[in-house]
Amino acid sequence: MKLKGKVAIVTGATRGIGRAIALLLAKEGADIAFTYLSSNDLASSLKKEIEDLGVKVFASKTDVSNFKACGDFVTKVKKQLGSLDILVNNAGILKDKALMMMEESDFRDVIDTNLTGVFNMSRSCIVSFLREKKGDIVNISSVSGIVGIPRQTNYSASKGGIIGFTKALAKEVAAYNVRVNAVAPGFIQTDMVEGLKDEHKQQFTEMIPFKRFGTAEEVASTVLFLLSDKSKYITGQIIQVDGGLAMR
Ligand code: NAP
Repeated sequence: MKLKGKVAIVTGATRGIGRAIALLLAKEGADIAFTYLSSNDLASSLKKEIEDLGVKVFASKTDVSNFKACGDFVTKVKKQLGSLDILVNNAGILKDKALMMMEESDFRDVIDTNLTGVFNMSRSCIVSFLREKKGDIVNISSVSGIVGIPRQTNYSASKGGIIGFTKALAKEVAAYNVRVNAVAPGFIQTDMVEGLKDEHKQQFTEMIPFKRFGTAEEVASTVLFLLSDKSKYITGQIIQVDGGLAMR
């Protein structure tokens, strides 16, 4: 087990990529604290699945865009699970629209959740990490933040912002043995892409060298690599998990 005895926070873990990450880290022996926004039923079923893996779990309906709520959550995690070793900033939303149709709230909501949420949770954890001289952060960005995708000015800005945040923080805290990396998925089969029209899914699939969307588990296994000792000399990197879609 690669993470036995560690305590990991995963934000937005009730569905999709976050769920796959929480389950994989639990299988690797980590105690899990996770957040979600709306579905108590999904949170209960994930909590049970994690408990069945023989590790401790703490679930909390905590909106990552709320700075105070994030601080309160991290305090409770340390109290309930005893320590803090890992932060995976995964929670994210889409509100795709052409810029000419985009409301201010569409832009602000996406930035507040996807980018400010990363600040809120990282800021809430960083003092513990620095004091303990250990800690690993993985942020979930997107290829949209690297290449830019039309109708996603809000989302591309948030995910590009995460890349800058990751590199800046990695340099800032490396001397304290704290690593900060990011994963940039391409098209991954989750609820987030479920809303795409079939013709668009077909077009996007054609653009991917592997000719298929990725799975949440394929993203999760890259996150695990970045949290394990196998990557202990890696920091400030953005690893694309995109079937070759945005290779440079
Ligand atoms: P998803 O299926 O829509 O799940 C999103 C999760 O985030 C849910 O558990 C949701 O909780 C939670 N969440 C949303 N807003 C939140 C908030 N303010 N506070 C706390 N939790 C919140 O999304 P996904 O496809 O798994 O995406 C996960 C991450 O990967 C996101 O950052 C996304 O941008 C990124 N990503 C996804 C893809 C893709 O193709 N799927 C590609 C690139 C990057 P509720 O269920 O309670 O609402």
